[in-house]
Amino acid sequence: MAVSIAPVAEPPRRIPLDRAAFRWAGVEAKEYKSHAVDAAGMGWQAVTRHTIGPAGAAFETRYFELEPGGYSSLEKHRHVHLVFAVRGRGRALVGDSVFDFEGLDAIYVPPLTPHRWLNAGDESFGFLCTVDAERDRPQPLDDNELAALRANPATAPYAF
Ligand code: MN
Repeated sequence: MAVSIAPVAEPPRRIPLDRAAFRWAGVEAKEYKSHAVDAAGMGWQAVTRHTIGPAGAAFETRYFELEPGGYSSLEKHRHVHLVFAVRGRGRALVGDSVFDFEGLDAIYVPPLTPHRWLNAGDESFGFLCTVDAERDRPQPLDDNELAALRANPATAPYAF
């Protein structure tokens, strides 16, 4: 039986990390989200998105960086996350849990589970996140979900 090989969109290459700057060669820092979302909880601060690649594949690997005080939107979606901390110290609100993570610790976010990433330190915090190239859009939480997070002392500080 013939083995089918997907078309290769890019030649073999190495993408070196500039360790001092913590930037991959040729990978541009972009705004975390290109549009403001007014819904409750969807605010974010001091986050950049770095799409490392690969282009044209069924998946893409992104690096997100949060400056001190930075946080991502509080969102949910059907696609799952498995993110790895690679720089600094992070905190994750996932469902009714709050996790601190760093140094290649991984955090799993199940489908449709509210989540938010925060910088828990005083240096840049960065994590790697691989997702399907085609995936559902993040949605805001509904009023009941937000109320539950705000009523739980563990999650209330992050349910803004
Ligand atoms: Mn997400």
